Amino acid sequence: MKKNQISRRRFLSATSTTAVAASGLLARFKPAAAMMGKLAITGGAPVRTKKWPIWPNWYAEVENPLLAMFRTGNWFRGSGEHVAEFEKAYAAMMGSRNCLATASGTTALMTALHVLGVDAGDEVIVSPYTFIASYNVVFLLKALPVFCDTDIDTMTMDPKTIAPRLTERTRAILPVHILGLPVDMDPVLEIARRHNLVVVEDACQAWLAEYKQKKCGTMGDLGCFSFQNSKHLPAGEGGAIIGNNEIMVDRCHSFHNCGRPFGTSKGDSAYYMRAGNFRMQQSQAIILMSQMKRLEKDTQIREQNARYLKEKLQHIPGIHPYKLNDGVTRAVFHLFPFRYVQQEFDDIPKEKFLQALQAEGVPCSSGYGPQYRDGLIEEALNSRGYQRLFSKSRLKRYREELVLPQNDRLCRESVWFTQNLLLGSQADMDDIVHAIQKIYEQRSELSRS
Ligand SMILES: *Cc1c(COP(=O)(O)O)cnc(C)c1O
Repeated sequence: MKKNQISRRRFLSATSTTAVAASGLLARFKPAAAMMGKLAITGGAPVRTKKWPIWPNWYAEVENPLLAMFRTGNWFRGSGEHVAEFEKAYAAMMGSRNCLATASGTTALMTALHVLGVDAGDEVIVSPYTFIASYNVVFLLKALPVFCDTDIDTMTMDPKTIAPRLTERTRAILPVHILGLPVDMDPVLEIARRHNLVVVEDACQAWLAEYKQKKCGTMGDLGCFSFQNSKHLPAGEGGAIIGNNEIMVDRCHSFHNCGRPFGTSKGDSAYYMRAGNFRMQQSQAIILMSQMKRLEKDTQIREQNARYLKEKLQHIPGIHPYKLNDGVTRAVFHLFPFRYVQQEFDDIPKEKFLQALQAEGVPCSSGYGPQYRDGLIEEALNSRGYQRLFSKSRLKRYREELVLPQNDRLCRESVWFTQNLLLGSQADMDDIVHAIQKIYEQRSELSRS
């Protein structure tokens, strides 16, 4: 399938060049004229005024099953079939033996880590370039999130920086396939094997992404997903855990359902383990069944547009699009990221560049900051619980070792486009390219403004 896509793309780009030249369609490239014009931020005409694809979308087919379910009053998973149906369908789509639906990605991660034995006083190696939930869950389990550094080009966890951070308390590694870009999993799994650590994949932005033909979420002991509103499979809120080990997923089920027995997971009493209620509702499962039908198609569109955009943008000075890890066979682009290198762009600060790009009609943002300096870590380490669980010297060393030069630089330089932009047409991608080209051409004007 991959081969076909590439050759089809090559074919299209080859034929479209000749077609455009032959039929005089060059007039279509009006933005070339705009490139010469005044920047929108200083009062010129923006490259683009058209709207971008909206998110989320929904389909009329969900109305009847949703209404029917609401009318029965059977809204919770225990009184109907929809959640179990979704779990079956999701496991099949992912090629995993088992799936448990949860209330959110956060509760999926917490459940997976707990069931795999991450306990109070343990340590978990985690990527710092991520949504805050990836390490909040470690704190919620009263364990210590130990950050490895980020590879600046691939924007994923740098496996070389894991080993020096292991201690006798390290219990798990939490690789995050951030932005839909798969982590270099082989070295991560090798370190885990050698040191007897469990691996929970945070695939909360990586539905259908692949590393060496294996789907993200299927390579570690358990893999976790989110179905929050902004995600590629949105249901307002929602999450899932997948895994091939039935015993582990059954234990997840018990943990997410107040500690009740489930399948192979049982004890001598009705509530035999400490647990919570992290259940998905029936309405979420109905919405997800419908959203799932679009996922493959949408993913292909994003993939194609991301490749096109990367190819065009990489030639602009100062603009450095993501690089995929060797072994990645599919990235899914929850976000389209590039690094903006100020020094190569007349030393114009990133904030100013972002404002100029927004003014041209291209929504963009700055991406993750170094959130681990936002106070939450000190709040945790200074709490009574952490003071009891970890020695003074361990906490002192932890603070000293919170040195993440590549990640800090990535946070300073990264720029994102959200995934809904990638659902547009190739002409929409050209608008993005032209807007950035225009800003580059007129950078001295921006510099002076
Ligand atoms: C969204 C997300 C989560 C948390 O998912 P919720 O459903 O919002 O709880 C965790 N990790 C990453 C990387 C995410 O993007």
